[in-house]
Amino acid sequence: MTSDDMEFDTQLTQCGRNPAQHFGAVNTPVYRASTILFPTLAALDVKEGARLRYGRRGTPTTHALEDAVCTLEHSERALVTPSGVSAISNILMSFAEPGAHFLVSDSSYGPTRKFCDFVLRGLGVETTYYDPTLGERISELIRPETKLIWMESPGSQTFEVQDVDAIVAVARAHGVVTAIDNTWSAGYFFQPMTHGVDISMQAGTKYISGHSDIMLGTIACTEEIYDRLRETYLRFGFCVSPDDAYLALRGLRTMPLRMRQHHASGLAIADWLAQQGEVIRVMHPARPQDPHHALWKNQFSGASGLFGFVISETDRGRLARLFDGLQFFGMGSSWGGFESLLVPTNPTVYRTATDWTPMGQTIRIHVGLEDPKDLIRDLRTGFDRLHDA
Ligand SMILES: *Cc1c(COP(=O)(O)O)cnc(C)c1O
Repeated sequence: MTSDDMEFDTQLTQCGRNPAQHFGAVNTPVYRASTILFPTLAALDVKEGARLRYGRRGTPTTHALEDAVCTLEHSERALVTPSGVSAISNILMSFAEPGAHFLVSDSSYGPTRKFCDFVLRGLGVETTYYDPTLGERISELIRPETKLIWMESPGSQTFEVQDVDAIVAVARAHGVVTAIDNTWSAGYFFQPMTHGVDISMQAGTKYISGHSDIMLGTIACTEEIYDRLRETYLRFGFCVSPDDAYLALRGLRTMPLRMRQHHASGLAIADWLAQQGEVIRVMHPARPQDPHHALWKNQFSGASGLFGFVISETDRGRLARLFDGLQFFGMGSSWGGFESLLVPTNPTVYRTATDWTPMGQTIRIHVGLEDPKDLIRDLRTGFDRLHDA
């Protein structure tokens, strides 16, 4: 049975494992290895072509995860890296050369921008940040030396949905490579490769892991681009521990269940927030009221548990009364685990091509797998503390 004969959820239970190769064990075991031994000189001489050669170049456990990422992202090839940021830098460095020009969406993840502004600028690569909602008008920004268009949809912290089809069409007409940060959808609700994007990366730290206990990056790509990305990967010595690869594969098995719950609970809480007097705006593209809803509906089959909202209160002391006493919402970086998180954000400092003037405090929420009734009670009590302050 080929994977094409199976539903997607079933594929995610099958990918990246072959019990017959591992004494019948259901899961691909953790292979700890640096040295890989070859039995004969002849075998050593042909090792150049072998997938297994040296621990830094991958182990059966990391190879299994790469195969699983191909299934998840509908891609021909995949690489796994030690963090989401290393996946981003791996991709950007693969197209960096003096005089090159990159187009990067203005609502890209902060460290993506920092890599462009600090590392790439020093190498002579110029970055233009573009309005994430510009669609086919991206053609006006393309130059002869434009090598790469970077997208992230929805955008970090502000959740603008990009018109990926329009941007890919322009990029293809100009022979420009496209890459997207697909972390928000987990690859479960959106497959950029099927829309013609050349490279789709994720912070596997988030929903692939799903349990807030590993750092991981994934890069899915076409066969055509793979060698170029792999060359950068090898030169930087990026490699993933087999334990982390194992945990990522384990997380992937429950991804469909988790994502459906994140979708339902996230939407319920977004709708509830929109009705509260303290909330002046909700940024959640799966809500029909959201300005990006039509584009989202066109491309995505669901929504993850991450979105934003703005409350009118901006006084740090009073905000502390809301944030400090929460029972279920943790305060901390990252997201995509089973637990809920709430953090104040400041997108204004990251925007150069577009404005973010929310007239209040922007907040990022990750709705985890707790019962939404408990989460709503926690938030309501927090808003009440805000008023009592
Ligand atoms: C967290 C995150 C990353 C970076 O992932 P790390 O594993 O923390 O390096 C990249 N992109 C987005 C959208 C993220 O939220």
